[in-house]
Amino acid sequence: MEKVVIIGTGCAGLTAALYTARANLSPLVITGKQPGGLLTTTSTVENFPGFPEGVDGYELMVRMQKQAERFGARVRFGALEAAHLGARPFALTVDGESVEAQTLIIATGASHRHLGLESEHLLENKGVTYCATCDGALPMFRNQPLVVVGGGDSACEEALYLTRFGSEVHLIHRRNILRASKIMSDRTLANPRIKPVWDSVVAEVLDTKQGKVTGVRVKDLKTNQETVIAAAGVFVAIGHVPNTQLFQGAITRDANGYIVPRKGAATNVPGVFVAGDCSDPVYRQAITAAGTGCAAAIEAERFLESLQQ
Ligand code: NAP
Repeated sequence: MEKVVIIGTGCAGLTAALYTARANLSPLVITGKQPGGLLTTTSTVENFPGFPEGVDGYELMVRMQKQAERFGARVRFGALEAAHLGARPFALTVDGESVEAQTLIIATGASHRHLGLESEHLLENKGVTYCATCDGALPMFRNQPLVVVGGGDSACEEALYLTRFGSEVHLIHRRNILRASKIMSDRTLANPRIKPVWDSVVAEVLDTKQGKVTGVRVKDLKTNQETVIAAAGVFVAIGHVPNTQLFQGAITRDANGYIVPRKGAATNVPGVFVAGDCSDPVYRQAITAAGTGCAAAIEAERFLESLQQ
């Protein structure tokens, strides 16, 4: 039986792994479908303390995993398929195998939100993508007009990154002011190759008949007028949805699916703790995820100690 099982290997999961490993609890860490979490899909991380020159997101996560493993964390590639949390030990199914756990730390993060258009779905990986750093350098996007959808830090970061490859980048946002932080907004709007398209939404990604992205049909929300913007790629950066569906019914979640923590990192089930973006609709930073991972680990350790008294 495992003392601690951690689901997720983003900043939250790997920090929880580091702390529980250093507490001699030999945590079993399940990577989930995206090992290293969302930070592996970003470029340079400039706001993680301790890296004055910034650090590559992928490299940061590799370092976090190595640090946790150095103290005895066991990282296993796989996905949680079921979790029976009604009694302890908790009965988990990971890639078809049963795992029993005295405590569980949920650090499943969040996934990219989709626009919800049929054309978006049909053209995914045919020019529609959710990660500029993963796909931006592909030959199909080189020296071509590109579209980024969204107005947050992610959209700005993607648009700035894509100016390295595309001929121009149309940033389509549903309002006329960016949600992004001031520094990112200023940088984005100062870039002559980024063309903001305000108060507008993508009504359709073109062209499903050709089976590749040729542009977008855009609707101006103020005038209801529709126009077509030619583009070889559509990069959707409109936020995230928490990966908590598996815990529906067992763990208390809010209306948007975020796990509701109690007293820091605890949940409604004693012995189950939560950390990172799957329970954070507000801050969603690498450093806050790492902080809650630390808190969840300390709570799990205390819980295990309390069982022995
Ligand atoms: P976000 O801040 O939630 O922004 C999402 C953006 O997408 C908003 O502008 C929103 O519009 C728009 N949007 C949402 N649903 C939409 C829809 N259905 N159709 C069209 N537009 C839609 O998400 P994020 O940019 O991914 O950032 C998440 C967190 O990570 C934030 O805390 C951010 O600061 C952080 N982050 C930081 C950095 C950095 O510091 N370098 C980089 C990336 C992310 P409205 O504005 O109208 O709501």
